[in-house]
Amino acid sequence: MEGALTARDRVGIQDFVLLDETTDAAFLSNLKKRFSRDLIYTYIGTLLVSVNPYKELDIYNKKQMETYMGINFFELPPHIYALADNAYQTMLTEFDNHFILISGESGAGKTEASKKILQYYAVSCPSTTLLNTVRDKMLMSNPVLEAFGNAKTLKNDNSSRFGKYMDIQFDSQGDAVGGHILNYLLEKSRVVHQNHGERNFHIFYQLVEGGEDDLLHQLGLERDAQHYNYLTQGECAIVSSINDRNDWKTVKNALQIINIEEINTNHLFGIVSSVLHLGNIRFESNSKGQAVLANNDELRWVSNLLGVDARSLQEGLTYRKIEARHDQVLSPFTVDHAIYARDALAKAIYGQTFTWLVNRINESMENKDPSRKTVIGLLDIYGFEVFYVNSFEQFCINYCNEKLQQLFIQLTLASEQEEYEAEGIEWEPVQFFNNKIICDLVEEKHRGIISILDEECLRPGDATDLTFLERLEDKMGNHPHFVTHKLADKMTRKTLERGDFRLLHYAGEVTYCSHLCLTRQNVLFFSLLKLICQSKNAIVKECFSTMDADSRRRPETVATQFKSSLLKLTEILMAKEAWYIRCLKSNESKQPGQFDEALIRHQVKYLGLMEHLRVRRAGFAYRRKFDVFLKRYKPLCPATWPHWRGEPADGVEVLVQHLGYLPNEYKMGRTKIFIRHPRTLYATEDAFEKC
Ligand code: ADP
Ligand code: MG
Repeated sequence: MEGALTARDRVGIQDFVLLDETTDAAFLSNLKKRFSRDLIYTYIGTLLVSVNPYKELDIYNKKQMETYMGINFFELPPHIYALADNAYQTMLTEFDNHFILISGESGAGKTEASKKILQYYAVSCPSTTLLNTVRDKMLMSNPVLEAFGNAKTLKNDNSSRFGKYMDIQFDSQGDAVGGHILNYLLEKSRVVHQNHGERNFHIFYQLVEGGEDDLLHQLGLERDAQHYNYLTQGECAIVSSINDRNDWKTVKNALQIINIEEINTNHLFGIVSSVLHLGNIRFESNSKGQAVLANNDELRWVSNLLGVDARSLQEGLTYRKIEARHDQVLSPFTVDHAIYARDALAKAIYGQTFTWLVNRINESMENKDPSRKTVIGLLDIYGFEVFYVNSFEQFCINYCNEKLQQLFIQLTLASEQEEYEAEGIEWEPVQFFNNKIICDLVEEKHRGIISILDEECLRPGDATDLTFLERLEDKMGNHPHFVTHKLADKMTRKTLERGDFRLLHYAGEVTYCSHLCLTRQNVLFFSLLKLICQSKNAIVKECFSTMDADSRRRPETVATQFKSSLLKLTEILMAKEAWYIRCLKSNESKQPGQFDEALIRHQVKYLGLMEHLRVRRAGFAYRRKFDVFLKRYKPLCPATWPHWRGEPADGVEVLVQHLGYLPNEYKMGRTKIFIRHPRTLYATEDAFEKC
């Protein structure tokens, strides 16, 4: 029977732009048809939609890579290599900067996609022995950063708990000559706390499971994750899909390749171990209600590994030093305070060490001759996330996704329509939801949630969850995307706990615990910070000496730092040409072959894929300034070659008439020619190649 079916019946349509009708049902049915044949990639014009197959497909081998090198985008079945290659070729011919924005919710396949692109460039770019080393370092930065920055969550066994933007720098021959990583907000709270069914960062388990006997002995560690409080809260230290012992070897090898010397490797694992020992320090309450240490051994190990004085450490964990004129007063902690101080220390040293690692990786990938270069940036940042309890980290992650959606809207839907207007092209506007209103709700100066959080955290006296919530209610009680306890019944008829607030994000509603938003802002107590600055562990010393200087300035909350870093990122991206990969999660249970229609429909909706499709269908995939177009293609027509003496626009008209463009295939704007489908341009390119 199959022979009687057309290719379209069998494998669906490769580009949604060519779909007969633009309904949700038609879109989903095409996606499903392709997914059932293991065809996980489909285009919307030049945007790539990818559905996570949750199984290894034989489409990422060297032969496949070679197939896609230097081809025209639409000649072969959709593939991530085609997009990577197209971005690369465009960069080379137009000598400008690009970025690939990979988005989708947690577990949708973003990190895998970014790795596949990197692997593609590693094979497809021209190479010399010298440059191979830069390439190896770029590839090897992945296992290291994943070990320290990824963890098992309920959504994904290898979930990235930090955001990553990586520039790959190319010289004019197209060879990869350097790389640079910017990292965003590591979820430090995971170091000291994990929800049920989740783990701490992989590196802890890798060390305990895979570390050599001698090493564990030196570090005072037991070969048993169950022994450590920081590793067992989620009650799932062992995960079937993860082989910590093998991963340990990979990471050790990768550390060598990215030039981390043995001495620093020792310091690095000293820090990782000190965190585990810290987590096992217990406190008891004495008769006055003051915290005292319940076990000494662990403290000694921490003091040893971090190279700080044991007595001072003990003091720092159980007392707060208050400097009064010429005097120092020691104010004892309660057990709760002591635990807070201990956890804050563990988070601070782990977080700083992560940044140190990123810096070292950057040094090793640095481009030695930065004169003429262009870049392709890869953005793999945490996806939209909703858990049962959502804290400050989810707030930041989801805010970040709002920003990226806003960027996507600005660069595609909004700017596209503005350009048609400016160029005088007739156009039926497409309606879309603009999430700017939610971005403003979070980040607006003096009025947004982050500003209020700042004021509450930096205000003298103790801000509480309730004062924070009251202020929020005061300022944004009427906002259509904000709900608190008081307003909940009225608006969504869903109850809310007293201390919670809910945001109606573009991707769905999320309830945040205000308590967890406030407490996650606080920084390390000053006496502990001072102590840690004197550490004899070279990495800790390097990390904290700059932090100490910073601490004299007015502190910035984590939320404000994050907001500034996102603003900077937006600027970096806006200056480049964008490519998009939209990753979809096929099902919640990580099962191969399962296509959960409701789940996918929801993602298609909030990612704005239908709107994008409508704009693409109604619009024009390519546009070029008249003079640029004419300059490139004039050899194709005797009337324009070698010189066209009139207006460039008239020359373009003569040229496309000669090439046989049909009236509905292109439009002439005020300064540019608009070409409806890239195929038309590719045909012209082919003719150009041949002439
Ligand atoms: P995200 O970064 O979006 O949270 P990941 O890229 O870590 O998600 O993907 C989650 C898991 O899904 C991976 O560990 C892998 O098992 C599977 N996966 C993702 N993309 C692919 C793919 N292209 N082929 C096979 N499996 C994949
Ligand atoms: Mg990821």
